Amino acid sequence: MPEAPDLVVIREYLLPRLVGDEIVGPTERKPLVLRNMLASAATTPFETDIADRRVESLERKGKLLIAGLSGGRELVISPMLTGGLMWSEPSTRVMATTVLIFDMKSGMQLRYIDQKKMGQVHYLAPDQRGDIVRLENQGPDVIDEPLSFEEFKNCLKPFRGEVKGVLTRGGLVSGIGNAYADEILHEAMIYPFKKASRLSDDELSSLHRAVYSVPLAAVEVLRDRVGDQIHRKVRDFLRVHGKQGQSCPRCGSRITAITANKRETNYCRNCQPGFLFDK
Ligand SMILES: [Zn+2]
Repeated sequence: MPEAPDLVVIREYLLPRLVGDEIVGPTERKPLVLRNMLASAATTPFETDIADRRVESLERKGKLLIAGLSGGRELVISPMLTGGLMWSEPSTRVMATTVLIFDMKSGMQLRYIDQKKMGQVHYLAPDQRGDIVRLENQGPDVIDEPLSFEEFKNCLKPFRGEVKGVLTRGGLVSGIGNAYADEILHEAMIYPFKKASRLSDDELSSLHRAVYSVPLAAVEVLRDRVGDQIHRKVRDFLRVHGKQGQSCPRCGSRITAITANKRETNYCRNCQPGFLFDK
């Protein structure tokens, strides 16, 4: 679920709370999500190695959060489609989807929740970052590292395939997922299944504008709406994503849904004309 705009707000909430706090101990409630990448993983269990380490930094890169820990350790949190974080009092009911709980010295808990356990939490030394594929093959961040139009056009050239897929795979620009790709393409009035290589100059220019304006505008809304409920998905303000059958806010036509590769794409046939087989 979390894409760059969500994670900007989650990070802003956690930064003053988590950084400076110490991890007392973790509890792994469900397997598969946590990956201990340390060479010493076999001899020193994760729980022992991470205990008493202080959280020194919290960065966001695309759709990932990276907590820097004292003594040369990092936690790279990649929530993918179904993961999320909670900052809770220990007395708060533990949701069934809770995968990992970090007890903090402050008495609070950082919880990683994941409905389908599709996300990953890597524990590693900073020089192992290159081994995390999801981290290494990312383009410049959609919020923090905007490309100029010329750079954007040049960087897009090697990308083949449908424009929506190019946006969500993150190699061109990182931090955009299924929801914000739909929003960006609606804003730019581009058919989501159009081949990126067939975009006109006008379309490229609209796409470039929308890629950087839509997520930023969303951050403003989310800052107001998310509050301390950082695990909640706030998506009701979006214009097309998740709005199948509702009216397009631009032209009033009905919003369409097409499911491809297990992902739903929502768009307006009137504002974003195109044909699946005429790419
Ligand atoms: Zn429309």
